[in-house]
Amino acid sequence: MNAQVLIVGGGPTGMTLALQLQRFGIAFRLIEKRPKEPSGSKALSVNPASLTLLNDLGLATELVAKGHKTEVINLLYHNQPLTRARFSRLPSKYPYFLMLPQPDTEAVLEQRLNDLGHYIERDCELLGLQTHDEQVEVELREGNQTRRQRYAYVVGCDGGLSKVRNALGLGFTGYDYNMHFILADLCIHWDGEHQQGFYFIRDDGFLILLPLKNGYHRIVIKVAEQCPPGYKPSLQEIRDYIARYEIPGLQVSDPIWLSSAPFYNRSASTIRQERVFLAGDAAHMFSPIGGFGMNSGIADAFNLGWKLGYAINGIGSDALLQSYAIEREQNTHTLLAKTDKSTSLIARLDRHLPADEQHYLPLLRNRPFIRQFPLETAGLTLRYGAPKGSLDSGCMLPYACNSAGLPDSLQAVGQAHHTLLLASHVLPSATVLQNLHDALAPLQANVQIQVISAAEGSLAFGQILPDPHHCLRKAWQLEDGEYLLVRPDLFIEQRGHLDDLDALRQHLTYHYVPELQPHARLAG
Ligand SMILES: Cc1cc2nc3c(=O)[nH]c(=O)nc-3n(C[C@H](O)[C@H](O)[C@H](O)COP(=O)(O)OP(=O)(O)OC[C@H]3O[C@@H](n4cnc5c(N)ncnc54)[C@H](O)[C@@H]3O)c2cc1C
Repeated sequence: MNAQVLIVGGGPTGMTLALQLQRFGIAFRLIEKRPKEPSGSKALSVNPASLTLLNDLGLATELVAKGHKTEVINLLYHNQPLTRARFSRLPSKYPYFLMLPQPDTEAVLEQRLNDLGHYIERDCELLGLQTHDEQVEVELREGNQTRRQRYAYVVGCDGGLSKVRNALGLGFTGYDYNMHFILADLCIHWDGEHQQGFYFIRDDGFLILLPLKNGYHRIVIKVAEQCPPGYKPSLQEIRDYIARYEIPGLQVSDPIWLSSAPFYNRSASTIRQERVFLAGDAAHMFSPIGGFGMNSGIADAFNLGWKLGYAINGIGSDALLQSYAIEREQNTHTLLAKTDKSTSLIARLDRHLPADEQHYLPLLRNRPFIRQFPLETAGLTLRYGAPKGSLDSGCMLPYACNSAGLPDSLQAVGQAHHTLLLASHVLPSATVLQNLHDALAPLQANVQIQVISAAEGSLAFGQILPDPHHCLRKAWQLEDGEYLLVRPDLFIEQRGHLDDLDALRQHLTYHYVPELQPHARLAG
């Protein structure tokens, strides 16, 4: 089958998108300009929200087995304990930050692609593109050859220097912070807690220590000077910084990776132009404080994957595709502000501001922000659209355990289709279910009805989600007859009641009436 979607860039964003598209039966090409796999450690933390999404791809168990679960991060100010962020009570099946070097995460994604019969086409580079009404024409370098091809859609997952973004003439506005960080993966020797993370904050900088698996640690140090591109610090330089921070007894040795990077706060002026989309670093670059870089790319890919899948399969309208840009641009602006604040909090970027406007962690009035830190960095407070209740449309469906041996929330939703979760004390009649089924018609076969109930029996449509002790109903605050419509990317699309199915019908007709017909195969 000829490819309908060209994914440019074989990093974590591009691979996650590819894995999503294959679930919807969409033919794609995934190209990567580098001839070989990456070697740099780069992003370290896979946050609870990403693990929840990757669980839906069946990858979380393998990733968790390879990484280190960090449940506590300690913040110290001039070596005095300031506060401690605990992740263990997060409302997630994965209440921790998984510390796993980016190449290991990428290897798991790539292996899954290969197992499914898909491959990254390496040494293949996008040189340019032009959009037409019904297609996108691209110029590719494949090894030593160049050729032109046409695709229904192109997605630029091609990193911070995105060729796709440049070819569209889009800006990448924002700013670079006037500081760099040096980082290394190495062995440490000290009496401190090896399983936890540490932020050592001083008035003139910060040093972060995060545990990896197998006795290694990631060390990240803010340096005031600008580092030239590709600068690799020496082990001695790292040791000199550690001495400056006077961390008692901390010694480092045997680095397996040394690097440096600037801090950015930038975003593309838009992430959709007709049939071309941007995702991951091509769309946004955040300060690394909070670890949102790779995690946001994964979230972009999940958001876009099902929408492209539905659109190409003739179910999703153009409004659905546009919602990718609306939702993810909104999220980017929120994260740019949040990461800027957390960077200011530990790097004291605003020391020239009046005292009441300073965001510096040691200032007592900034502690509430830190108390929110675990939830914020976990990616679990992300929401799309106007703020409503904590369990309304736009929120990720909160994780809910069930009684022992029964499916939890993650087993009930996702799997590349919508799910309607209906709370019902008694099993609904065939007529009630027929009405619901009719209201869901725009989603065609891409929705499953799950009736959350303690009652036993059988249904005319859908399945019973056993809830003998009302764990799920309580977790999702559902009264009898209320429902949650959950999208394939695990976000709540609508909350409503069986008594008012018109609201559901109207919403679905707008987003899902197939304005777009299945696309002709264009490439070749
Ligand atoms: C030193 C360093 C440390 C970092 N630490 C963290 C961290 O701790 N936590 C965190 O969350 N993030 C961190 N990041 C950021 C994180 O690595 C990125 O956010 C993440 O890699 C983004 O993934 P991506 O797939 O969007 O882009 P990338 O990983 O950049 O992948 C883009 C791919 O596209 C390819 N490409 C580019 N142009 C073309 C073209 N024209 N044709 C074909 N292919 C092309 C590139 O070769 C590349 O492989 C760090 C980054 C660096 C550099």
